[in-house]
Amino acid sequence: MTTPDFSFTLAGQDGQARAGLIATAHGKVPTPTFMAVGTAGTVKAMTADAVRATGAKIVLGNTYHLMLRPTAERVARLGGLHKMMDWPGPILTDSGGFQIMSLAKLRKLEEKGVTFRSHIDGTPYELTPERSTEIQHLLDSTITMQLDECTKFPATHKEAMDSMELSIRWAKRSRDAFVKRPGYGQFGIMQGNVYEDLRRHSAAALVDLDFEGYAIGGLAVGEGQAVMFEVLDYCTDFLPAQKPRYLMGVGTPDDLLGAVARGVDMFDCVMPTRAGRTARAFTSNGIFNMRNARFQDDSRPLDENCTCLCCTRHTRAYLHHLFRCEEMLGPMLLTIHNLTYYQNVMQGARAAILNKEYDAYCADVRGNWQRGPDA
Ligand SMILES: [Zn+2]
Repeated sequence: MTTPDFSFTLAGQDGQARAGLIATAHGKVPTPTFMAVGTAGTVKAMTADAVRATGAKIVLGNTYHLMLRPTAERVARLGGLHKMMDWPGPILTDSGGFQIMSLAKLRKLEEKGVTFRSHIDGTPYELTPERSTEIQHLLDSTITMQLDECTKFPATHKEAMDSMELSIRWAKRSRDAFVKRPGYGQFGIMQGNVYEDLRRHSAAALVDLDFEGYAIGGLAVGEGQAVMFEVLDYCTDFLPAQKPRYLMGVGTPDDLLGAVARGVDMFDCVMPTRAGRTARAFTSNGIFNMRNARFQDDSRPLDENCTCLCCTRHTRAYLHHLFRCEEMLGPMLLTIHNLTYYQNVMQGARAAILNKEYDAYCADVRGNWQRGPDA
């Protein structure tokens, strides 16, 4: 059997919203899709089987965390990230740049790359576009991301332009360092902050490098949903229709619905997993805080519309009790549910796009969020 080429096929469109299929060496991903974040080779509090049971088809790994521990070379010796974490399906890895900027110490950004010290033990490292690409190769990542600089927000036009130009030069070097293999892909990352001319320029330069897909970076960094949607309104127009589009680090279920409406196909965010560990539940009736005393005698399932393990086997009262007692099972069950909810929202979106009723679907989902826990 030959490995299929990395490809993206559009299955349907409703307005700007797209339903597609990404084919990779490690399996197929129907879009729109949400990627569970598996920071250090694990989706926190989840077994690989539990991640699969949520309906997830692709997970994300963090280059920064894995290069520090257990190191990319060790992951390669252990047979790659898929084998190490028991996830034979597609894996997207980020470039490491974002975490260096948010976590590492004494970081210094130069034309060549970034030097920094580990936030764990202070060990010095250098990450260049070439090294980031090599690390992701060692991890056996299905989708490699270029090293980029995520422009700070707010930024002046000049600051955003200089940063975006650096990201384009790094995109070229990342592309040159990428070893093309059947079924594997590399995505370029569009920058340009909130400036339409810069976004247009960035996209055109990346499209010239002919990546297998394109990410929209530098959003969800404090600009707010209204501005993010304004930027997305033109950003997706600058990207080729026949390649997947990935909005990095977004977001709430409402953000996802709005971004899909603007032509985005892929998402990742720590929100459902992080919220799950802190007692926040995303449900079809809105966001609940399971520590709230209103749930202490509530014998109903967390979400009556959900078929996950948490909702079919346990009550709201039990979840409340687990969080009150700081039992490990609370975060585990709520992570299972939150990830399942995100997958359900994306699967519902895909079906609605194929039926050309995406607007009605969004109105229905948003309407139900208003109902609250007592509906
Ligand atoms: Zn559930």
